[in-house]
Amino acid sequence: MLQKRDLTKIQIMKPIFSFFTALLLFTSVQAQVTLDYYLPDDVEYNDDIPTPMEVLSQEVGEWHLRHDQLVQYMYAIAESSDRVTITEIGRSHENRAMLSLIFTSPENHARLEEIRERHLQLGDPEVSDDLDVSNMPVVVQLSYGVHGNEPSGSNSSLLVAYHLAAAEGEEIDELLDNAIILIDPSLNPDGMARFAHWANMHKSLNTLVTDPESREYTEVWPRGRTNHYWFDLNRDWMLVQHPESEGRVAKFQEWKPNILTDYHEMGSNATYFFQPGIPSRTNPLTPDRNQALTANIAEYHAEELDKIQSLYYSKESFDDFYYGKGSTYPDVQGSIGILFEQASSRGHAQETIHGVLDFPFTILNQFTTAKSTLKAALELRVELLEHYRLFYKEAVREASRSTIKGYVFGETADQARTFHLAELINRHNIEIYELAESISANGETFQAGRAFIVPTDQPQYKFITALFERRTEFTDSLFYDVSTWTMPYAFNLPFAELSNRQFNGNLLGERFDGTMESTGEVIGGRTRYAYAFEWDEYYAPRALYRLLDAGAKAKVATLPFSGVTANGERSFDFGTIMVPMGIQDDKMEIHEIIAQIAEEDNIKVYALNTGLSSRGIDLGSNNFSNLVKPSVAVIGGSGTNSNEVGEMWHLLDQRYHMPLTILDKSGLGGVDFSRYTVLIMTGWNYSDLSSNTVDAIKDWVREGGVLLTMKQAVQWANRQELADVEFVRRNGNGDDEETETRPYIKQGADQGAQVIGGSIFNAKLDLTHPLGYGFNDDDLTVFRNSTTFMEKGENPYSTPLYYTDDPLASGYISDENKETIAGTAAIVVSRFGGGKVIAMTDNPNFRAFWYGTNKLFANAIFFGRNIRGSSGN
Ligand SMILES: [Zn+2]
Repeated sequence: MLQKRDLTKIQIMKPIFSFFTALLLFTSVQAQVTLDYYLPDDVEYNDDIPTPMEVLSQEVGEWHLRHDQLVQYMYAIAESSDRVTITEIGRSHENRAMLSLIFTSPENHARLEEIRERHLQLGDPEVSDDLDVSNMPVVVQLSYGVHGNEPSGSNSSLLVAYHLAAAEGEEIDELLDNAIILIDPSLNPDGMARFAHWANMHKSLNTLVTDPESREYTEVWPRGRTNHYWFDLNRDWMLVQHPESEGRVAKFQEWKPNILTDYHEMGSNATYFFQPGIPSRTNPLTPDRNQALTANIAEYHAEELDKIQSLYYSKESFDDFYYGKGSTYPDVQGSIGILFEQASSRGHAQETIHGVLDFPFTILNQFTTAKSTLKAALELRVELLEHYRLFYKEAVREASRSTIKGYVFGETADQARTFHLAELINRHNIEIYELAESISANGETFQAGRAFIVPTDQPQYKFITALFERRTEFTDSLFYDVSTWTMPYAFNLPFAELSNRQFNGNLLGERFDGTMESTGEVIGGRTRYAYAFEWDEYYAPRALYRLLDAGAKAKVATLPFSGVTANGERSFDFGTIMVPMGIQDDKMEIHEIIAQIAEEDNIKVYALNTGLSSRGIDLGSNNFSNLVKPSVAVIGGSGTNSNEVGEMWHLLDQRYHMPLTILDKSGLGGVDFSRYTVLIMTGWNYSDLSSNTVDAIKDWVREGGVLLTMKQAVQWANRQELADVEFVRRNGNGDDEETETRPYIKQGADQGAQVIGGSIFNAKLDLTHPLGYGFNDDDLTVFRNSTTFMEKGENPYSTPLYYTDDPLASGYISDENKETIAGTAAIVVSRFGGGKVIAMTDNPNFRAFWYGTNKLFANAIFFGRNIRGSSGN
């Protein structure tokens, strides 16, 4: 029944004829959508299964679904149907439930564990030949909403769940008899919550506003794409640095689905995209058969989308190169990952070049390709299962032919960093062992019990190769994302490839179980004189912050020294933290915190009973610099890079247990900077800062503040004459050179080829510089995804980190950029009044898995003010 206020609404009909499609696309009046709009009209539905309207009192597409409503409906479906089971596989950072539902016939549910075990055996070449795939179900996982502000996927998951639970007839019975269907309805609950709140709070209740300039369609920073710490979870499948990924990757490994779909949205003026993507950009480790099957499955999407007259395309954009994405992660594991991209209404209904795109239509498309995927899975079931079997058979065959028999890695001085790489590897069903015997390889020595070893002769051989390989040759020069991720470089860990001659079974110790026992201890017990601990361990910054936060007085050694410990005389390196007990206010508390950091931060603390050193400086020397508790702020907000700000926030909050104040760029006018010791600015644009704010920042630096500028912010600092940096212009751009004409069609590729999407470079670090404390090797690999190039500083002591003359370690870089970057600076320190301006061209905290350079960032925070000299203005 229409009430009076509903008279302006119209009923949307299913788009059977083009007339209705036109009506659908061009209406700007609020649509009264019903379930019939979405569901196929030749299917009967079981009345006992609750519809979304019956549970939520609103129709799919009427509002942007809140995450709690999604959870409510999924539990209601699971309770009402014997085709469904539901489990919570984790909690998001903001404590929202991560759900996994399994849909199959009640008969299959009764023997689900048996089906799962048999399915996994198909990926085990030792037994897979004995299996008959003709009677095995296909496993499909439908994954939704990894980007929170791409809502049509998660909203459509209600329709899929309802359809699978309530549809009746031969077609659904055949599907459920022959398929195990896993649904993850929201991969990013916190982002979904942010976006739904934004879209709903701006919705006009009687007449939808379709003007793209409306606030409804222009979300504010940091927007809903990312998770709580503003990370892109669709880069985290391989890295697994967030709780949202942990549960989902564990579920993938538990089931090894034959198809995994990943539902996204793109620009509002686009149409619909399904994979295959750009063929030349497929990762070479992915077999051709994967892309062929993807193309076979694509025919099913085309057929269903043709029926509803929806425009679509494939092959022209997106790619399958980086294995950290949901649609690519499966491709290196015998599965088929499929990316869908729907033009976004980004709110309830928005004007586009194709007319008004309303939210229900975007949901309809996503529901349609869920059905086409399931139809394809059913009809291609045997091919998909054979592909899975063959993939792993080929993988172990390749492993047996490989000259690399194992990878060993480990840093004796940093157990936590070594552990975290082992932990990452272990999450992907890869066998990894503690090193049982010390060995030397690749010029490095790996100590038994302090290193790990990954034998290559195992089914996940290809995935292991993807994690460890260094690649500098590419068939295409364009990348949708990073071009490399060599893990031991990211973790800055010594590693070696072991040949047949070097590898033997005796090297394999206990299988790694994913846990780490702390090796921290207080050597020598309580002391009346001083404690000392080195800065090498990954969690040393957390330990130091605990001490400073409790009011401890601590110093950092700017020169090496030796001390007498309970284990005898010992040398302490640059950057050692020393806590003299005689000058502490609350000595009992300091003793307790020392014990705590040994246990919880994995720190070896040495009790020293005398201030006299046999070599190097004595403990009362001026070459121990006093430390102050850092108070850190970063400028965030519109115009800044939320990923990079989020990475810092995550590092300080999650790993170092330190507060980070995020200042909003638009509200800097009243900020009293004097309460901070460190101010951080990263990409992108600071040209709109008021002159008052710029003056306030300058005054604060003059008074002794440490300004850490990164990437594009370096250019801003230089324009303000805060930093003293010379930028390098790229070769071959001189004005006097005659322009070489190029075919118009090459424009995109030529420009794209000059982008550094993400590559790894060799740099040299000055281990005597405060920014180099805690590193043991002056060779450091850094991650770069920008084209800001700095000359080395004029002052010879102001460039603690610079690129080598032939710096590419792994990844893509154009010949022009390769020439330009050689020998340039990665960090330049300038003096400004009594303060410091640190300029970094790279991102030391990239995606939370670049553990190897986090300490550069920590050093800037803790020791930036202790840097002496350097060039100045
Ligand atoms: Zn997306």
